[in-house]
Amino acid sequence: MKTESAGDQHLDHLFSSSAARMDRWRDLNAAAQAWAAGGRGGDSRGSGAPVREALAIVRPMESYFAYPGGRLLRLLDERIADDDARGAGRLILRISNALLSGSYRYEEGAWEDGEDDAADVPDRIPPGLRAEAARRPYFETLFVTPAPAARTAAMAGEIRELRRRDDNMIYEPVMVGNFEDALLAAVLNGKLEAVVIYDGIPVPSDQDVPLLREFLNVYQDLDTRNTAPRDVGLKLAQVIKGIRPELDIYLLTDRRVEELAGNPDAAMVRRVFYEVEEPMEVHLNVLEGVADRYATPYFDNLKRYATRPISTFHALPIARGKSIIKSNWIRDFGEFYGLNLFLAETSATTGGLDSMLEPTGNIKVAQEKFARAVGADHVFFVTNGTSTSNKMVYQAVTKPGDIVIVDRNCHKSHHYGMVLSGAQPLYVEAFPMTEYSMYGAVPLRTIKKALLDLKAEGRLDRVAMITLTNCTFDGHIYNTRRVMEECLAIKPDLIFLWDEAWFGFARWSPFLRPRTAMGAAQALQRWRDDPAALQAWEAQAQEFGEDLRPDDDRLLDRRLVPDPRAMRIRVYETDSVHKSMSSLRQGSIVAVRDEDYDHHVSAFREAVFIHASTSPNAQIIGSLDIARRQMELEGYELVMRAIEVALAIRREIARHPLISKYFSVLGADKMVPEEFRPSGFVDYLEPGANWMTAARALLEDEFCLDPTRLTLVCGTAGYDGTAFKNLLASKYNIQLNKTSRNSVLLQSNINNTRSDVALLIKVLLEIAEDIDGRLKAEGEAGQAAFAGKVRNLMEDVPNLPNFSRFHDGYREDPGSVTLEGNMRAAFFAAYDEAECEYLPLRSPSMDERLANGPALVSANFVIPYPPGFPIMVPGQIIDADTIEFMRKLDVKEIHGYNAARGLKLIKPDAIEEGGLAM
Ligand SMILES: *Cc1c(COP(=O)(O)O)cnc(C)c1O
Repeated sequence: MKTESAGDQHLDHLFSSSAARMDRWRDLNAAAQAWAAGGRGGDSRGSGAPVREALAIVRPMESYFAYPGGRLLRLLDERIADDDARGAGRLILRISNALLSGSYRYEEGAWEDGEDDAADVPDRIPPGLRAEAARRPYFETLFVTPAPAARTAAMAGEIRELRRRDDNMIYEPVMVGNFEDALLAAVLNGKLEAVVIYDGIPVPSDQDVPLLREFLNVYQDLDTRNTAPRDVGLKLAQVIKGIRPELDIYLLTDRRVEELAGNPDAAMVRRVFYEVEEPMEVHLNVLEGVADRYATPYFDNLKRYATRPISTFHALPIARGKSIIKSNWIRDFGEFYGLNLFLAETSATTGGLDSMLEPTGNIKVAQEKFARAVGADHVFFVTNGTSTSNKMVYQAVTKPGDIVIVDRNCHKSHHYGMVLSGAQPLYVEAFPMTEYSMYGAVPLRTIKKALLDLKAEGRLDRVAMITLTNCTFDGHIYNTRRVMEECLAIKPDLIFLWDEAWFGFARWSPFLRPRTAMGAAQALQRWRDDPAALQAWEAQAQEFGEDLRPDDDRLLDRRLVPDPRAMRIRVYETDSVHKSMSSLRQGSIVAVRDEDYDHHVSAFREAVFIHASTSPNAQIIGSLDIARRQMELEGYELVMRAIEVALAIRREIARHPLISKYFSVLGADKMVPEEFRPSGFVDYLEPGANWMTAARALLEDEFCLDPTRLTLVCGTAGYDGTAFKNLLASKYNIQLNKTSRNSVLLQSNINNTRSDVALLIKVLLEIAEDIDGRLKAEGEAGQAAFAGKVRNLMEDVPNLPNFSRFHDGYREDPGSVTLEGNMRAAFFAAYDEAECEYLPLRSPSMDERLANGPALVSANFVIPYPPGFPIMVPGQIIDADTIEFMRKLDVKEIHGYNAARGLKLIKPDAIEEGGLAM
């Protein structure tokens, strides 16, 4: 499967860099083996041209990776120059195998230039030690030095000489000589963990990198044109940190190090060294920096705990596993999970195990490390999913009577969070995607309108929080920074809760990171520190006044600027670590970046006490610690691969003549209405699209599409979403999560490889062939039936009902324009069965009530899966649209709806007009 077309050959076409590199090596290997085979026994002179060409395509990228490195590439050049077809073929095979398998990281033989046959490699390290070396984690360190190219090979050798037997990790140096090459290495090479920059490096690369230069020029803060030559190193540190914040950066200078170390612009540098200082110091620091990310304090301690001889007299019979391993009846439990699970099970908080409820030891440190990793001030571990994380945030920062502006389509934990805290939801609507029976995201204009209406009615002070789902299930990503900026212009102390249950991985993509809550909060803070911020606000104040007038409609359509002196940055992000990283199920975090967090410290502690189990699961906590370690060390590479996999799926489906006859993956143009895409971005696969156009869309557009979420339309193949999902599961063992009436959602994650792409494509092809064959066999009648089925699925789609309103009895000011309501009062009113009634969905009495009243008032949440959001909430008036939607709904799973008895309603005479507080 080739991933490149001819136009993508530019070195800086970075969208699929690691896959592209492997493909280039595969092509080179194919050419080399053909040459070697042709040369057997005969004269092969002249047929080496394809190998030379393929090598020329491979070569430019190779200077950014340690392996195979200059020495092996020179050897290869020599063999090709000597027309040694078989020698070249053997070497290329060895290199590409080592690259594909990753064996170069622990097999010395892969680096040898003597013989190509691994068995002939002289045994330089004794077997015992080699096993140990194999266990040592491997990484690469970038050295950016102005030294002449002739010197760098010797420098790399000197760096390798610094290795000591008891180093617990091993790294290879990658040498580059200028700003642009360093940047490319940081972008392309996912194995890099540290960067050592020498002062005095030049800017331009010798390679041809037009896209990179365009990119640097578009983002002003990356532009080096106004950087003094002596500050290029520092600039490089800043830019690399912006792309990969997890990397450790060291600066070597002959300037006064104290001065540099105190320079706020150098804050991102882990350490500044005087250039002639001991190279060993640099070496040790590089190792220590990576070891710090590697360390998982809770998990490490749990492992130690499990190996200690401990007798338990607490109430956790499975701890130590004796009653399981020795059991007559449940031994398979132990055999299946292994003894370690039971050795690591404990209810103790002594022995260094720390307490989840009030951590002071390694859980606290593990949380701090997670906070560093995601760019938060605080992180709280949660062992019962983001469902609980969300409820904790509501509990901690809202109280009865507060208003929360919230997307009605958000996860049910938000609705229940408000039932618990007593905050009143003001539901705002996402744009509908009726033809696919799903919702998009909430336009900023709608949110601003809600805020301005509340201001007009004198209730703005009651608004505590805005909650949005980023990204949505289907992949709509908000412009998080812009949403916060404009809302803060209307109310400067708003709290934002971004539900990023699906989106935790985005932190490790430089493209997606600015659109995470934490990434945007950081950008907002930087913006506020810039004097230009105040100027922008003053210009706005000139035109619209210091206090924005809520009846001024112009405010809805222009970009509002908050007062940098008044605004507070109060951002909460919840992540299901288990949904996008390597945590066990239910592992979740609350990440906090709230300047006024100290207002909530005690409330937050209460929220933890209310919601956290007193028996938290040690394995989940351990896996949160591990997930953080992985992302800080290889998240960048893994996320890049997940995106590559998704793009490969899109590409293969789009270009396969038979698959694309019945299936398609929706692009940004289908998922995001044009008005929300000012950049004009159409799709990742559009001709002419490259990472630059995608980067621009991510910067400018109101909504973007997460490339890893793929809405596959199956209605055009005659399947409704559920049927297609079942077909994939039962016949092909492919599992997926979400469906709509005519689509299913596919998703790539850090666990997927290109083989998964191949499998999926094969399955889709099989299904497409099957349909095609069937239609041919069935003739005209069958085709007409198929067309009818497709039409039914694709065109006869129910209208998506908007939130109607709360019954006046649950509104404080029934005359108000904004529709927030006391959902909690309605929720508890329904506890009294005598005050409730049931009405069958399809009954004359239902039609009669809809036509002539009294109004139908929902007693509880009604949540059909799909779509998975409540189409009714307690206290809501049920209108004809909602009933029609429910009647058309062809799903079986509807939470809160009793098909035998009908809809549960609060009796009209049980509701006190004028509202009741609770
Ligand atoms: C899954 C999900 C949740 C709940 O997370 P769990 O970890 O399953 O409890 C919350 N919000 C959204 C948007 C989700 O997709």
